Amino acid sequence: MSRRIIPVADISAVPDIAGAAFTPRGILTDAYARPMRDLRISITDRCNFRCVYCMPRAVFNKDYPFLPHSALLSFEEIERLARIFVAHGVSKIRLTGGEPLLRKNIERLIERLARMTTADGLPLDVTLTTNGSLLERKARALKDAGLNRVTVSLDALDDALFRRMNDADFAPASVLDGIAAAQAAGLAPLKVNMVVKRGTNDREIVPMARHFKGSSIVLRFIEYMDVGTSNGWNMTEVLPSAEVVARIAEAFPLEPLEPHSTAETAQRWGYADGSGEIGVISSVTRAFCGTCTRARLSTEGKLYLCLFASSGHDLRALVRNGSSDADIAAAIAGIWQKRADRYSQLRGSGAPIGQDDGAPRVEMSYIGG
Ligand code: SAM
Ligand code: SF4
Ligand code: SF4
Repeated sequence: MSRRIIPVADISAVPDIAGAAFTPRGILTDAYARPMRDLRISITDRCNFRCVYCMPRAVFNKDYPFLPHSALLSFEEIERLARIFVAHGVSKIRLTGGEPLLRKNIERLIERLARMTTADGLPLDVTLTTNGSLLERKARALKDAGLNRVTVSLDALDDALFRRMNDADFAPASVLDGIAAAQAAGLAPLKVNMVVKRGTNDREIVPMARHFKGSSIVLRFIEYMDVGTSNGWNMTEVLPSAEVVARIAEAFPLEPLEPHSTAETAQRWGYADGSGEIGVISSVTRAFCGTCTRARLSTEGKLYLCLFASSGHDLRALVRNGSSDADIAAAIAGIWQKRADRYSQLRGSGAPIGQDDGAPRVEMSYIGG
């Protein structure tokens, strides 16, 4: 049976530029003094997988209103906006989706982004999250275009289980081939993300740890999140990261490691025998909103301030109505300076969630993970 969800695009607002040009100074802080440092850009809302926790087939079927090509930001438009975000202090851009490798000529976009330098004069860190299905074919061209690193999602090594989870009959072997190609191309350090759903793939935790232990790949376990409205999320299916760590430690002793930076979302654990590390991302049981420096640009150019937002700010409207870079910079500054989003923290504390205004939350595939 098909269910329709309400397209989010209709409820987004065109930002106020208030006539004030704004010169970016390389630092922009929000209502809780969080700087804007990371930008995730979703470059397509389409995907060749139908992961049960992200794009369940019952919703994302042939009747689903995917965006028409004309709605997507062009590479020129993405580059222009990215430059303004970078001038405001963004030092890392992650391309995502949907499946970003489905976007035609993505290498041309990477070339444009990889040429940029941060406000501090350093090379911009350009990375990408992918389901890995097209990576074997594309890894070399991505590296040549200037991509620094890549994160690959893989939820199970068991063939039948992985095919069930992606619901598109993709074998884990093809993702592993993609990972090998990325390593051979020098896309490093390589991370692998596994979303853990209790009762679905938690039996794969230890086999996955065993598989990547001793390689230079960092495996990260992500708590299943209540993002969007279509995945039928239920707290009983969340396996707390503490339990993930306990299960791995039973097989392979672990020691806590210091974070690389205060804004790091993963808690790091090292194998006691020195054979590498894992990470756990406890989005549900240990919210990290206090250090959240991430802005998200949707496929059609809307700026979202939180993964759990229900509406965005229509930067594409400004790009396409002749606004100057200074006007767009002013709009972005005005939006970020008012940002007070901290959904996971409020969800965890049981407090009322201000941004949850009854409108449907955006889907992960639209806003990017
Ligand atoms: N298609 C690419 C991929 O799968 O890597 C990029 C986009 S995907 C939306 C980005 C990340 O979000 C993936 O690692 C995916 O596993 C994760 N994700 C999607 N839905 C999730 C959910 N409900 N809870 C936790 N992580 C989720
Ligand atoms: Fe596609 Fe990634 Fe979502 Fe899976 S998690 S359906 S691969 S966008
Ligand atoms: Fe950032 Fe929102 Fe996630 Fe909190 S819930 S960490 S504010 S994206």
